[in-house]
Amino acid sequence: MLVITNARPSVLAGIDRILVENGLTHTRHPGPDRCVIAVDGHAGAATITRLAATPGVIDVLTAPGDQWLSARRVRPSTTRVDVGFGVEVGGDAFVVAAGPCAVESQAVLNDITSVVALGGASILRGGAFKPRSHPASFQGLGAEGLALLARQREVTAIPVVTEVLDPRHVAAVAESADILQIGARNMHNFELLKEAGRSGRPVLLKRGLAATVDEWFGAAEYVLRTGNPHVILCERGVRTFEPATRFTLDLGAVAVAKRRGHLPVLVDPSHATGRRELVRPLALAAAAAGADGLLLDVHTAPETARCDGAQALTAADFDRLMADLRPVLRALGRPLV
Ligand code: PEP
Repeated sequence: MLVITNARPSVLAGIDRILVENGLTHTRHPGPDRCVIAVDGHAGAATITRLAATPGVIDVLTAPGDQWLSARRVRPSTTRVDVGFGVEVGGDAFVVAAGPCAVESQAVLNDITSVVALGGASILRGGAFKPRSHPASFQGLGAEGLALLARQREVTAIPVVTEVLDPRHVAAVAESADILQIGARNMHNFELLKEAGRSGRPVLLKRGLAATVDEWFGAAEYVLRTGNPHVILCERGVRTFEPATRFTLDLGAVAVAKRRGHLPVLVDPSHATGRRELVRPLALAAAAAGADGLLLDVHTAPETARCDGAQALTAADFDRLMADLRPVLRALGRPLV
């Protein structure tokens, strides 16, 4: 059961009492304009009626299909996720997170950071732990990569997003990065989702390669139920019969996710297409489809990149995309962060 309220603290304490008296455990999920109380166990009809009649209670949702903390019905306004350094995802402005697929060295990371920061990105992306399809492929620099990202963030005052693959690494990643990325392959890793949630850091949750929107939202629910409201969804393409692109970017899912939920949604056209020449049109389409921002692979020398060079935008490609994005965002009435 979810109890949606805008009650004062004294009334919230009264709701707590009603639940405790009835042997129901619950967690509070405060937000800017409402507090949602997620209740475990079965509440009887009399308790539900009593809760619904409590002043400040907006709704009591009891149907199993309604138990979604991420639902727009539960919170009508889009969640704004403060990712640090004055950057907000899900606010009025559109955000661009860009950087290398994998962190390779201090020098390369410096060059790429300069390109993306000067070009208008407000978040630096970069993988230290890489989920590669083959074990012989470059697996990332690990802890050394994290240290390079942390240094970049310190020097340039730009928030950093990086992937965490293992629940045992969550604390270390949360110390070096501002946003924990859960990759497509780990969207169903519920222990990792819970651990990332408990870190309190914003979580960027990529959609699984073959996950339905419902499953994607279910994964978000795992993070939200830890009490961490800072969840950002990311559509990155799904597996279909079509081999012309690496995955099929599902912009329909972006529109669905924006209507269904209140969480901000980013789009990653780099991992979706696997081909740099397709990133620009799909990035522009993602903005038009209502995405709150983009996640882009950028590399100053993609031909030497140790991971996914074919999908990385060059510095010139990135500048061109950003120039083309501005009029699209203007038409949408959305500034760039
Ligand atoms: C990535 O963004 O580095 C990545 C591996 O993406 P995905 O999980 O979408 O494949």
